[in-house]
Amino acid sequence: MKNYIVHHPWQIIEEGYNGHYNLVSESLMSIGNGRMGLRGNHEETFSGPTLKGTYLAGIYYPDKTRVGWWKNGYPEYFAKVLNNIDWLRLNLEINGEQIDLAKVEITHFKRTLDMKRGILYRSATFNLGNGTEVNLESERFCSIVDLDLACLKYAITTNRNCEIKLSSSLSFDVKNQDSNYDETFWELAKITSQEQIAVSAKTKKTGFEVAASCVNRLVSDDMVAMPTHSEHHEKTVTDTFVHSASAGQKTTLYKICSIKSSFYYGEDLMSLTTQHAKQKWNEGYDALKQAHADAWQTKWQDCDIEIEGDVAAQQGIRFNIFQLYQTFSGEDHRLNIGPKGFTGEKYGGSTYWDTEAYCLPFYLATADEKIARQLLVYRYKQLQKAIENAEKLGFTNGAALYPMVTINGEECHNEWEITFEEIHRNAAIAYAIFHYNQYTGTADYLLEGGLEVLIAIARFWAQRVNWSTSKNQYVMLGVTGPNEFENNVNNNWYTNYAATWCMRYTMEALKQAEMLNGASTDAIIIKVNLQVEELEKWTHIIENIHLPSHPENPNIRLQQEGFLDKELIPVSELPESQRPIVEHWSWDRILRSVYIKQGDVMQGIYFFENEFTTKEIKDNFDFYEQFTVHESSLSPCIHSVLAAKIGNEEKAYEYYLRTARLDLDDYNNDTRDGCHITSMAGSWLSVVQGFAGMRIKGNTLSFSSFVPKKWEGYSFNIIFRGAKIQIKVAGNETHLTNHSEGDLKVLVYDKEYTMEANKTLSVARNS
Ligand code: BGC
Repeated sequence: MKNYIVHHPWQIIEEGYNGHYNLVSESLMSIGNGRMGLRGNHEETFSGPTLKGTYLAGIYYPDKTRVGWWKNGYPEYFAKVLNNIDWLRLNLEINGEQIDLAKVEITHFKRTLDMKRGILYRSATFNLGNGTEVNLESERFCSIVDLDLACLKYAITTNRNCEIKLSSSLSFDVKNQDSNYDETFWELAKITSQEQIAVSAKTKKTGFEVAASCVNRLVSDDMVAMPTHSEHHEKTVTDTFVHSASAGQKTTLYKICSIKSSFYYGEDLMSLTTQHAKQKWNEGYDALKQAHADAWQTKWQDCDIEIEGDVAAQQGIRFNIFQLYQTFSGEDHRLNIGPKGFTGEKYGGSTYWDTEAYCLPFYLATADEKIARQLLVYRYKQLQKAIENAEKLGFTNGAALYPMVTINGEECHNEWEITFEEIHRNAAIAYAIFHYNQYTGTADYLLEGGLEVLIAIARFWAQRVNWSTSKNQYVMLGVTGPNEFENNVNNNWYTNYAATWCMRYTMEALKQAEMLNGASTDAIIIKVNLQVEELEKWTHIIENIHLPSHPENPNIRLQQEGFLDKELIPVSELPESQRPIVEHWSWDRILRSVYIKQGDVMQGIYFFENEFTTKEIKDNFDFYEQFTVHESSLSPCIHSVLAAKIGNEEKAYEYYLRTARLDLDDYNNDTRDGCHITSMAGSWLSVVQGFAGMRIKGNTLSFSSFVPKKWEGYSFNIIFRGAKIQIKVAGNETHLTNHSEGDLKVLVYDKEYTMEANKTLSVARNS
């Protein structure tokens, strides 16, 4: 765990030069706008530890699979989000000396990510030999107003007269560190250094084209200078300024870049970017920055969580919300939320079950419902691929198995125990449809794709189980549950339960759709050729599935058959020196142990909470918590929400802390690879579903709130069925302000109230 980030409610501040933490800082200081983003790399040439990374959503490369032993059914390739155009690149020479922050003597250094405005600032002061002191100040942003626009302002001041040579480049000479065969993925298409520099390149195999052009201008004493000369070499094009700066004079580079890809634009990308950058330069850097900052402020009005009395917690939650909206803004249904977003390469792909299981509720409640709907449409558009994926594994009749990792709908994962066995992901996709319908109070999405997805998923489960004559029940063999520290287990309770829930919900959804529009529902049934016998089979499976439970306490659902044969030694008895076990134990030892990487039974109880009594939830929580090591960042949030549910407020808070500052404090010692974007949604869940106890009961919003002891209070906004509601919890009072024109029913501590339009309702706990 690290603790070098200065606590501040709206900013992520690194004070002083921490060269050895540079990779971590680069991840934390990432910026993005949903379409593109980059790590917090230094602008200049840097020889210290760095992971150079600029990414454009949707632009990927199918990197040929590399495995030791090929197994039939493995995907041919792993689609990777590519390291993309390096638009930031500068090279600075002062009096002929190349500036490299890893080599100079730094006397002042500060990096600040201003989350309120979406801008990254950096300032550094250092000495060169001969008494020359240099100060650098930079700021950058990826506009959320114009998604193809990235801007940099970079100022140099020296205490003596100096000769400055500053080169500003656009470069496709970039690599992915995680490339399987050490290949480069870009082929140059066009490049020009005449008038305005521009370059375009195409990805090998996938043929995506990306072009970038920028206007570089050097300003000193209100004089605007054009580049002294421009040139290109291989995949890099550069403007160079040579300037004699006098002592104390500030020399500022403005770099206005346009980046466009064939994902969005047709012909002649290079001239499009050239014109675009020129037009943006004419609008002026300050105006572009202001528009971007204003848009962030507007966004915050809907999605902020304010915490009183705990700056560290405040910083943590805002950082998470900020990163989520930097990663996915919902403008395009072809995009999704990669576990590392634009902050690193690891995990390739872009879509895991994380999206549906953890992120969807956040987007549903903090933005217009069409944003969350894009995530559902993403899966609908990939249904055919999911059916083909299932066919490849031997399933028939339109059964779909969604991939564990994907960008374009095809499976990318290539470890058999996950690719073939971690099939519970299908259930999260069905659950997201249920959750969306429940939250929005409409069933119309069922007719626009939802029902087809549900039927295909239900069909998969119906074929994946088999009848056991010895048990006289249906069983599901050879699966991996959410707890990836167990593979190839039989009758994983979560998977069996979730599978039958999917079938149940699909039948319910068929009825809802029928009520909404009989003719359209019939058309879907005909389209997918759904037969009555299939529904009968589903019912038979639902009624006869094997769901293992603890022989001494049936309230406790057994993670899988044979779980109790393990050595039941609680985590508290594991020496600290052996944790995390994934770094200290052999895989074999982990698999045989009782230790749970992330909630498994608890994940099921979280999803289907209504189907369990509080006593059942508590018994399972108490039983499994002692064996859970939370070595997945997705684990603590589920425990936080459930601890709150069973009234264990201290635990709820303890688990919240583990999710909210996971990256800021580098809890798992892996933030250098990138931030844990999808698990960031978990800290929002911990506050909103955990501390505030927000649920939808029937058709009614419900709250059951408390304030963690360390806080004075907290507040947040949600958008529920078109109404904006502010929830403020302080002391033992919950204040609900209905910023809409209609009255709304609400349950607070299970008692019904009316929130009148444009009024605040206050309810005391135990009132
Ligand atoms: C977790 C998975 C998750 C993946 C991507 C793994 O460590 O166990 O549940 O989908 O990370 O976040």
